[in-house]
Amino acid sequence: MAGGGFVLVFDFDKTIIDVDSDNWVVDSLGLTDLFDRLLPTMPWNALMDTMMCELHARGRTLADVAAALRAAPIDARVPAAVRAAHALGCDLRVLSDANAFFIDTILDHHGLRGCFSEVNTNPSRVDAGGARLRIAPYHPADAPHGCGVGTCPPNMCKGLVLDRILREAEAAGKRVVYLGDGRGDYCPALRLRKGDFVMPRRGFPVWDLICEDPARVQAEVHPWSDGAELEETLLRIVRRAAIVEEPATAPAPALLPLDCKLESLPVAAQDGMPVMPLGVKN
Ligand SMILES: [Mg+2]
Repeated sequence: MAGGGFVLVFDFDKTIIDVDSDNWVVDSLGLTDLFDRLLPTMPWNALMDTMMCELHARGRTLADVAAALRAAPIDARVPAAVRAAHALGCDLRVLSDANAFFIDTILDHHGLRGCFSEVNTNPSRVDAGGARLRIAPYHPADAPHGCGVGTCPPNMCKGLVLDRILREAEAAGKRVVYLGDGRGDYCPALRLRKGDFVMPRRGFPVWDLICEDPARVQAEVHPWSDGAELEETLLRIVRRAAIVEEPATAPAPALLPLDCKLESLPVAAQDGMPVMPLGVKN
């Protein structure tokens, strides 16, 4: 299948869904003021655990949290892209600084959980007789990740997680496409190899960081702005590889225009980005 040569690694907040799930739950359940007041005093991940305890203290249930999560906005083209990539044989993973309960609830709601072979995120558990959600850091405080890039939060270095995924991809002869929007997505973007792809969300923090020094990124850079562009760009990368790697079996005439469109992608000289030798593998 066309996508059999790819591992696709998705950030979750503002990538799969169109909002930050932590902010969405906090705002939906009336904790915005408390959250804003406490944010300067503790790490984000610990603050979210505190917010969950506060919800329980106020009599809100796990069902209330789940209902808020199911209402989180999602661009319909993103689930379409996920399903199409899965159907093409890609290996899809989530790598997120949200938490397991939030992500599983939303993916289940949209019927997407089965498309992902793993979800790497902050662990969650339920206590107080099934009534209270607790959120823990991915890297425990007594085992800091020690990453020196400077853009990773203390509770999670996505780059370290991606290193393991890159080793798995290399052993399987697969290339990696990484999609994300935030500062925490910069470290993994730097660890991608030549032949991999990074899809930063245009105008978001990871895009700004990449633009500051494009030479630090070895992977091909393909920005996107919304679900439609994410879908189009991601599927073009996967299908283009099929043309290059399987010329005898790919329906070349029908897909060739996709290559032409890729040539004109605004990876953009005016944004200070290198113009990639598109259509040519390293
Ligand atoms: Mg994000």
